[in-house]
Amino acid sequence: MEVRFLGVRGSYPVSGPRFSKYGGNTTSILINSGDTSLIIDAGTGITGLADKNNFRENVVLLFTHYHLDHILGLPFASLLYSEGFRRKMFGPNFGNFSVKEALEVLSNPKLLPFKISDRMLETRILPVEGKFSEGNFRVFPLYSRNHPLDGVMLYRIEAEGKSLGIATDYEVGKDRSGVSEFFSGMDLLIHDAQYTQEEYTTRKGYGHSTEITAAEMAAESRVSKLVLFHFDPFHTDSCVDAQERRAREVFPETLAARENMKIEL
Ligand SMILES: [Zn+2]
Ligand SMILES: [Zn+2]
Repeated sequence: MEVRFLGVRGSYPVSGPRFSKYGGNTTSILINSGDTSLIIDAGTGITGLADKNNFRENVVLLFTHYHLDHILGLPFASLLYSEGFRRKMFGPNFGNFSVKEALEVLSNPKLLPFKISDRMLETRILPVEGKFSEGNFRVFPLYSRNHPLDGVMLYRIEAEGKSLGIATDYEVGKDRSGVSEFFSGMDLLIHDAQYTQEEYTTRKGYGHSTEITAAEMAAESRVSKLVLFHFDPFHTDSCVDAQERRAREVFPETLAARENMKIEL
């Protein structure tokens, strides 16, 4: 499977020369295998790929949660409005707030001049209630409360005999045993590293990790490779470079995610 990072930023998009290496778009990851494109979250990164050839005929959008940085690209994702795809959206249901409610909130006429569902071509919307399969992909969810207010869904994704973990908007807490077991032995772990270890002292409970706690999780889970992800909008390229260097001291097989970076598994 091929993993492509469409947006690696957390909180809100940024632009300018200080962000040119890692990119400024918010969270979205495209994973292609066989006839299926699995897209994790629809931050502004999802708007960048206008060419339909980047996607396979089955498009599956999978949400971790519904914070704005993970859904902001949705109204402008050409995939929703293009012929030639079979579409599904999967998302967790947090106290009766699910994909449908996120689409409705975004379609508020005071916020957006059109209703997404009026223009969106046929799309099945489904809840994440347990493991499921789509094309080559097998998706295993794990709910974590370690992100305010409703928590976040972590995912283990398997295809073509390889495995990949998604832990965005997840704060590594004191009790990490269930999570490190969930990610145990995976080929690749994509992990939140919003804050530096130094910043974290004043941001405990904000629902995000650091380059060090992400690297510790990778080491404890004995994964093959770690990708740091969901960078703070204040973190310029040189700051993310430094995060990558520090993480490698704990877990050498670490890379910082860059917009448009591809990893073949
Ligand atoms: Zn986020
Ligand atoms: Zn969030």
